[in-house]
This record gives sequence, structure tokens and C-alpha cells, in this order.
Amino acid sequence: MNLFDVYPLFNIEISKGIGCHIYDNQGVEYLDLYGGHAVISIGHSHPYFVQKLSQQLDKLVFYSNSVQNKLQIELSEKLGKASGYEDYSLFLVNSGAEANENALKLASFHNGRRKVIAFRKSFHGRTSAAVRVTDNPNIVAPINEGFDVEFIELNDIDSVRHSLQKGDVCAVIIEGIQGVGGIRIPEIQFLQALRDACTATGTLLILDEVQSGYGRSGKFFAHQYAGIRPDLITVAKGMGNGFPIGGVLINPIFEAVYGMLGTTFGGNHLACTAAIAVLESLKVDHLIENADKIGNYLMDELRKIPQIKEVRGLGLMIGLEFEQPVKEIRNKLLFDKKIFTGVSGSNIIRLLPPLCLTKVDADFFILGLKEVI
Ligand code: PLP
Repeated sequence: MNLFDVYPLFNIEISKGIGCHIYDNQGVEYLDLYGGHAVISIGHSHPYFVQKLSQQLDKLVFYSNSVQNKLQIELSEKLGKASGYEDYSLFLVNSGAEANENALKLASFHNGRRKVIAFRKSFHGRTSAAVRVTDNPNIVAPINEGFDVEFIELNDIDSVRHSLQKGDVCAVIIEGIQGVGGIRIPEIQFLQALRDACTATGTLLILDEVQSGYGRSGKFFAHQYAGIRPDLITVAKGMGNGFPIGGVLINPIFEAVYGMLGTTFGGNHLACTAAIAVLESLKVDHLIENADKIGNYLMDELRKIPQIKEVRGLGLMIGLEFEQPVKEIRNKLLFDKKIFTGVSGSNIIRLLPPLCLTKVDADFFILGLKEVI
């Protein structure tokens, strides 16, 4: 049987990782500024993370959700404290798409509506709120019949208000920072006005923090720069430092009813152990502060490079927009300089490194990039 060939792969086999560095099967070292689609938060093979997962594995507890799992309770308490959402509830799933699906379901159960507003160039996984993720017409996620999705330009509050006025919109879903769409940050005033407009019309506000959350932006959640409180927040990626886990943080306005949502693997023992170790390490290693500090340093230095049209980002979620396609620059960074980066569309290099990135790593990248361009 062949693998279903739907995404391109580099011909590199990774055999180990330490912190922000990965090694291929020939022993070649790479600086990882992409973290496997932003999933590596506390760093590759973080010793505490490895120890906790190994201990849990030794117990060989693999049991799904029909018996009590105290690790879920520990995780929800720790996540509530770390994020500032102690009064919210947590529903655990396995991925970002699943988190968004469940958030949309909860929203429509709550107000009985079926229309969703999302933003152009947004990406919410392969979900009902599927969105054309780039200007490439071939890259379109499937639209689920269940929801009627309207796409509006990011930061266009007038159009949002106009749509919400009719009173038939179930939810607005927005990324804390658009990732796949090119590291575009919603304006603070836009987010605040969006919150007000949703409240005024009984529309639920879903913040997709799958990529921008878990400290990546320099705050636990990127939307916290705007000081707003969404009705639902979705998380995944950095939550498990590579171990698949996702979740929905649910405002106390939602009442839980048996049968409303369900999952077989969501919140399993290993996933919870990974997620708890991540939260503990984020705190002990001061990684959110580090993301803020090194992110700002990196962006200040990158803004001095004249060939880059624009540097955008918060913390360690950074986009470098060029006038021309970046494919060649990215390939040279990878094959000549041994630095992994990501892309958004054709002209943007996307950096999503582990949050333990050091100044030495940042300088190594800046030097490599200058040489390449
Ligand atoms: N939401 C956002 C903002 C994402 O960036 C992604 C993945 O890139 C998803 C949702 C989907 O997450 P997953 O691939 O875990 O389903």
C-alpha cells in the first residue's frame, strides 16, 4: 500500500531532537525554526517531558473515557491557572480540527443557529469552517454541509457588524494570529469591537488558538493582548509538545449535558501526561517570557534586513514577507545552512520555533539568512 500523497515532504529522515535542534539519520544537525507545524513548544526531547511520559508508559494505562481519569482533572486545573481561565471548563480531544469542530457544535447547540463567520486567509483545520487558506485555488479545505460559512476580510468590523445585525449568525471563528494565511495579527481594537458585536447579537466568539496559543505569542493566548474573553477557545499543537492532544476551553455560560459531546481517545492518559508536563515546563523554564524576549530580538534584527519587505509577528510566531517567492531562500536555508523554516503562500517565510530558542540560535539564523539572500 502507498501513502496517499497529498502533501510534499523533504527527503530528510529525522532521528533525534534536542531543544531547538534536530538530527537526521546521517547525524547532520539542523536548527529547527518550524517545530513540525508549531507543535514543539517546550523543545525536542525535553528531559522532564520524556521522564513523565516514560513513567506513564511504564504503567501501561490505556483506557478510554468510561472511567475516571484524574490526569484530566489535574490538566484542567493547571491549564486554567496557566491561561487565566480558571472559571472555564475543558473538553479534551486529539487535534486542532477536532477542537474547532467541537467548538462549532457547542456554539450551534447553544443558540440554535447554523451560520458561521470566518475570515479570509484563515485556517481552522479540515473542518466545517473550512476556508480557502491561500490565494492558491487548489488549496481549499472541504466545506461541510452542516454550516453555512461567510468569509469576511480580517479587521473589517463594518462588514462583520452588518452580517451580525440579522441575528442569524451562530459563531464568529477567528485565529489569535493567522498562521497558515501569512502571520496576520487581528488589530486589538478590531478584536474588542468584535467581542462587543458578538455579545450584542447573541453570537458566540470562538478564538482558534491552535497555532498562536500556549505561549507562542509571548502571552498564553494571543487574544490576551486585546484583553477580551472569548466564549470558546480552541487549543492543540504546542499543548502536547508533539504528542497529539487538543482541547476546547468553554465559558461558564455553556451548560454541560450528557451526550452533548463525546470522544474515544480525547484526554487519554498519555496525552494528559504530555500536556501536564508541557504546562509545568513552560512555567519552570520561563518559556513564555523567553518567547516574548527572543521573538522581539529576532524581529528587531530581521527588520534591519532591507531585502525583507515586512516582518510581522508576536513572540515566536513570525512571518517574513518578501517581494518574490521564497522557495529558493527556504531551500538554501535548509540544505546549505541546515535551518528548517516554514512558509505561508509563496512569498512568506514562517517561523514557529520551539519556545526555548536562544539568542545564539536567533543569531545563527539571522547570519544564515543574510548570507542566503
Ligand atoms: N487551527 C489552526 C489555526 C491551525 O493552524 C491548524 C493547523 O495548522 C488547525 C486549526 C488544525 O489543527 P490539526 O492539524 O491539529 O487538525
